[in-house]
Amino acid sequence: MYITNFTHYLDEDGIIPTTMPEEARELANFLALVIDASTDYESESGFETGIRCFKEGCDGTIQSEFLFDQNHEIHWRCNRCDNEGIISEWEDSRWDNGR
Ligand SMILES: [Zn+2]
Repeated sequence: MYITNFTHYLDEDGIIPTTMPEEARELANFLALVIDASTDYESESGFETGIRCFKEGCDGTIQSEFLFDQNHEIHWRCNRCDNEGIISEWEDSRWDNGR
């Protein structure tokens, strides 16, 4: 389970720094895609983002849902493996399509 505060992956300009270690940057890019897809189809019941799971050897895709009773966190999970996480503090980032 990845519990992530998205602001921790951004620099003061709100972008993902290229100086970030590769593994962290890959996760940050993945989280940005999930936020982008999730805020396009704001749904409480959950939906299929079409984003590929990043776990090695897994060919699943990511589903996400908003947790409206928990500060609008985004809960994402793979439809094939146990890869999942919660993203907080994503609102007003440049990948937030909701406003
Ligand atoms: Zn997976």
